[in-house]
Amino acid sequence: MKALGVFPRERAVRVVEHDPPHPSSPADVRLRVLEVGVCGTDREICRFEFGTPPAGSDHLILGHECLAEVVEVGPAVTQLARGDLVVPVVRRPCPHAACEPCRDGRQDLCTTGDFVEHGIKERHGFLAEEVVEDARHLHRVPPALRDVAVLVEPLTIAEKALGQIREVRERTGRGGTTAVVAGAGAVGILGALVLAAGGFETHVWSLEPESGPQATLLASAGIRYVSAEREPLAQLGAGLGRVDVLYEATGAPEVVFQALAALGHNGVLVLTGLPGGRRPLEIDAAALMRNLVLRNQVVLGTINASPDAFGAAIRDLAVFESRWPGVARAVITGRFPLDAHGDLLQGPARGIKSVIAVR
Ligand code: BGC
Repeated sequence: MKALGVFPRERAVRVVEHDPPHPSSPADVRLRVLEVGVCGTDREICRFEFGTPPAGSDHLILGHECLAEVVEVGPAVTQLARGDLVVPVVRRPCPHAACEPCRDGRQDLCTTGDFVEHGIKERHGFLAEEVVEDARHLHRVPPALRDVAVLVEPLTIAEKALGQIREVRERTGRGGTTAVVAGAGAVGILGALVLAAGGFETHVWSLEPESGPQATLLASAGIRYVSAEREPLAQLGAGLGRVDVLYEATGAPEVVFQALAALGHNGVLVLTGLPGGRRPLEIDAAALMRNLVLRNQVVLGTINASPDAFGAAIRDLAVFESRWPGVARAVITGRFPLDAHGDLLQGPARGIKSVIAVR
């Protein structure tokens, strides 16, 4: 079968032939991969800045945003059947007995760093014609979501973040409902949809012009788009009077500090972006510290997602489809064959979310 391999030592990305995987445990499920979404992490891996092949392999099969169809289930699998659509979880627990989150199925909160991630860290990914997965790590998706279900994994990032925002706000028992998302890539747009569906009056701020497809898409979900060309983030915040939640999805350190200046009393700043390299920045740290303390603010980082976040993402995709028909579909700006991997992963970034249609 064909798969997309990243060879870090050779600095090469190419289609490779692998033997189809075989189930080895009664809980295993054989899957035919339908689609795999491409994200910034994949592009970084294809620039050889990130990503680690499994031990003993010279390459890593890429791909972690996957939608697949069940072909065969092992005798111990009762909750899935041939023909079901499923989305696999990306991260697998570390082996250490002392890591409570991993032992509790919350490997997204792993404390040792020895977790593995499909298509990212020490475990082959899903950009292959077939994969075998333990049923415990698969989430079933209703057939009505076939067209958009490849968005489940990136949506889980926003779902986990929303869960963390709610936990923080429950602790203080405070919080208004104005949210600003910085960044209008797939992570920002999906974050904005999750916040809007969760009852926040949501605004998105980003570099793209207000005449672009991002603004149109967001407007269909009642979300206002403000371009950085119109006003800086801090000015948007001041105009809104109070920003209760700031969802940072640019990964740009300069934006994070602008976001902090825009955040209101009891506000929560959520960081989802991962900047690469070193980028020294001059900031007024004293003013930032004063605001954090005097305004009771919380800054939280979030990575990966829990099984609950996968359930929430699947439910929310159905909510998006009924409240804002066509909006989730519009996040997917192109479907391409596996052979287009060079342009998609190593060429200039294009569209909002590109998807590789494996079948
Ligand atoms: C994935 C996460 C993963 C993270 C870091 C993101 O692109 O969506 O599941 O934890 O990369 O490896």
